[in-house]
Amino acid sequence: MTYDNNNIFAKILRGEIPCEKIYEDEYVLSFHDITPRKKIHVLVIPKGKYINLDDFNQKASNDEIVGLSKGISIVAKKLGISSEKGKGYRTLSNISEHGGQEVPHLHFHLFGGEKVGKMVE
Ligand code: 5GP
Repeated sequence: MTYDNNNIFAKILRGEIPCEKIYEDEYVLSFHDITPRKKIHVLVIPKGKYINLDDFNQKASNDEIVGLSKGISIVAKKLGISSEKGKGYRTLSNISEHGGQEVPHLHFHLFGGEKVGKMVE
């Protein structure tokens, strides 16, 4: 599978579609999910063109991998839901068909602000 340059998150990264930005640095962009499933539901995406976590771990540099991992914690802290500043949260990445991935640009969901509930339906 090749990366689709016209996926919605690629358009957000290029500034062609607006987003409610929470945080941005050299490696990641974070913004609110357009259809929040919990009180807090945000997305953290790498700036590079990666389809999913497998693609990312195969092709990304170590700096990008560290940047994404740390980016998640930075965002959680900023939102007051981190384990040190708040009551915690759930992070989730859907991968390909059986994972239920809809947007083919790697993204981590962060759910929080309330008890997230059952792990899998
Ligand atoms: P997936 O099912 O691929 O793991 O999740 C994709 C997520 O992207 C969904 O939660 C969906 O609500 C969100 N989403 C889809 N289109 C947009 C958009 O244009 N803007 C934002 N902020 N989120 C979107």
